[in-house]
Amino acid sequence: MQFDLLIAGAEVRDPGSRLRGEFDVGIADGKITAIATGLPRENARTVLDARGLIVTPGLIDLHTHVYWGATYWGVEPDPIAARTGVTTWLDVGSAGAYNFPGFRRWIVEPSRARVYALLNASSIGLVGPTYEFANPDYLDLPLAARMTEQNRDRILGIKARIDALTTRGTGLLALERARALADQVQLPLMVHIGRGPPALRDILTHLRPGDILTHCFTGHDNRIIDTSKAILPYVRELWDRGLVMDIGHGAGSFSVDTARAMIDQKLMPDVISTDIHQLSIQGPMFDMPTTMAKFLTLGMSLDDVIERSTSRPARAVGLKDLGALRVGGPADVAVLSLRKGSFTYYDVFKTPFSGSVQIDCVATIVAGQILPAAPERSLHDWADDPQLRAAVGPRP
Ligand SMILES: [Zn+2]
Repeated sequence: MQFDLLIAGAEVRDPGSRLRGEFDVGIADGKITAIATGLPRENARTVLDARGLIVTPGLIDLHTHVYWGATYWGVEPDPIAARTGVTTWLDVGSAGAYNFPGFRRWIVEPSRARVYALLNASSIGLVGPTYEFANPDYLDLPLAARMTEQNRDRILGIKARIDALTTRGTGLLALERARALADQVQLPLMVHIGRGPPALRDILTHLRPGDILTHCFTGHDNRIIDTSKAILPYVRELWDRGLVMDIGHGAGSFSVDTARAMIDQKLMPDVISTDIHQLSIQGPMFDMPTTMAKFLTLGMSLDDVIERSTSRPARAVGLKDLGALRVGGPADVAVLSLRKGSFTYYDVFKTPFSGSVQIDCVATIVAGQILPAAPERSLHDWADDPQLRAAVGPRP
């Protein structure tokens, strides 16, 4: 057996395949060809000595914005993937029907990490920071449905940000249209919550099992806990029936108070995702490994955190081949290191909480290739925020 790459002696942690223990991972022709102990190093063109490190399936970030240069929020995916273990990005709503062709041509096709998308129900996508549903002219459902049909290999669902700033007094109109669109194309609907109106209860009446509620641990008025910190019964009921609860940390959507209340009730999110964009990348979100480390700090186990960053997001959007390490499957792998120490993390309200572990990425492997480190583009003029960076400090 010949290998292009052999990851040797790692602690493999893969809840999706129920793999846990010290194994070698052999890779050839972009696929995993062996997961076993004592694979012959002399048969490998490259050996990555991973003793003392953790090997997981490539991380799948379910909430990202990677349409650099064409939208307010977008960051460039490959340089960040190379340093964070993210092998698959789901861009959620940066592109609508009018600008999806550019997203496909300029982002999806040249990127080495895998890029999929949820199509924004607004035809203009996230060109600007807010306002995408203020003008109902941009709710062109027939066009969005055609764009989805033409790009089914990349569009895995529909996105709608439903809050006071995006809807601007148009109420539930955009959500009703997004619901109809998702039903027509038979894909999941991801809805973002934050500040109402519309109110959370009204939003949830439009969601179904298999849909995704992102920013689920928001601290704003549409949060999912009541004043006594108990989960709202109508949220619990829909969650029990199969709603997917996604973190989407971002710059305004992760409250440590909400997170603690939920995890103390033994209620863990279904998916841990970053909502990485021009603002949140400056901190306190930073990146996927840091977001995962926050949930370790809040008491979740390493396997629970990995599962919610690999196999669960894959399942949420039907990426059947990804999110787990399988012989014969794509060789998408994250090589991670757990760093012990004393760290201060922050939520989006700059509330500090201390932890004893950070996660660092040693290598990001996509289809058997280690992504090379590459310089990241500087922040856009409108996003660069030295005050924010001074308040939360550098990545712990
Ligand atoms: Zn977002």
